[in-house]
Amino acid sequence: MKQPHVATVASLLALAAAATTAAAVTFDATNSASNTPGGQRFDQAVGLDYAKRVLSDASTFIWNTFNQPSPDDRKPVDKVTLVVEDIDGVAFTSANGIHLSAKYVGGYSGDVKKEVTGVLYHEVTHVWQWNGQGRANGGLIEGIADYVQLKAGYAPGSWVLPGQGRRWDQGYDVTARFLDYCDSLKPGFVAQLNAKMKDGYTDDFFAQILGKSVQQLWQDYKAAIDKDCWHWFINHRQVHQEFTQPLCLNNGCFQSTVGDDNLVPDDTTPSQNNSKPSGSVPGGTTPRHNNSYLIILSIAIPVGITLCLISAIVICALRRTTRSRQQTLSCAAYSEDIEEIQALLLDAVVIRAATDNFDEVNKLGEGGFGQVYKGLLPDGLEIAVKRLSKESSKEYVS
Ligand SMILES: [Zn+2]
Repeated sequence: MKQPHVATVASLLALAAAATTAAAVTFDATNSASNTPGGQRFDQAVGLDYAKRVLSDASTFIWNTFNQPSPDDRKPVDKVTLVVEDIDGVAFTSANGIHLSAKYVGGYSGDVKKEVTGVLYHEVTHVWQWNGQGRANGGLIEGIADYVQLKAGYAPGSWVLPGQGRRWDQGYDVTARFLDYCDSLKPGFVAQLNAKMKDGYTDDFFAQILGKSVQQLWQDYKAAIDKDCWHWFINHRQVHQEFTQPLCLNNGCFQSTVGDDNLVPDDTTPSQNNSKPSGSVPGGTTPRHNNSYLIILSIAIPVGITLCLISAIVICALRRTTRSRQQTLSCAAYSEDIEEIQALLLDAVVIRAATDNFDEVNKLGEGGFGQVYKGLLPDGLEIAVKRLSKESSKEYVS
């Protein structure tokens, strides 16, 4: 009689313990920088209650993304904390503690509540993800964190476009978009990858899950998204000027409109280079890219056209005053040449698409002023693009 009774009590206790574990994760947020402008902005625009809710919502979202319905599948974490601090950088995560920079919050221009939410989804992912016992590379760790942020709908407009990037493990947005592609090949891929990363890491995990090496997948991804999507986009953009960038999704291409425009060459600025607090365990999202190239192009192209026109007018005027009618005719021919030159002054978007965003494989050579790339326009015309060095800050098509 006694034995069964003890067993029953024991199993009841075990059940109670399991239930306690499931419900035991607590979320806490504090602001230790509320005497700074950034800390005050956090209190006004975000708030501790909202932040705590995000920690909880993000955790649930991550468990779903990682396909971890049972607490037994997850990392043994019972508390996730956020501290808003007067630190540099953006944020970092150490063990189960997330540290958010009040300076970053204070200096952010745009929807700061949405930005902080996205940063928290990224950082909470670091709390829950496996890291291959420390053997997974940092680019993949950050890519998975950004993948979660992407799937949660908090990818900022400043991220690279699908298909962009140098390497699959470049990290952050580049790797996140690649993982999104991989997951489209086999839904649940990222969950499986994370599960495998519990005990160790090898790039072969990609082949084990998807049947292709990660390098092959990266090549497939670049080929599938760059060409089809960009060419679709360019063709449609001729009709719809409001399209500013393509969004390449699993089932086709969709446009987006002004406001999300960020055609920035990621290939020269690895995302990880941005300020990240020192001593952080995988963590830290960052403001990733700048718009300097776009701004330069938007200035350089109109200035180039204007200079061409002024030169033509000056040359024509000079010839008119000194030469015969016959020579004036040659001036008209010269103007036609200028029209042809203008026709070749292409939109930066088209240039990027034609050269696969200045992909290394399209590089023809390097001259005194910069690198030369070959490109292919949607109509089949081959072009050569000279990309001047940063000091010259211009791009030309020939
Ligand atoms: Zn991170």
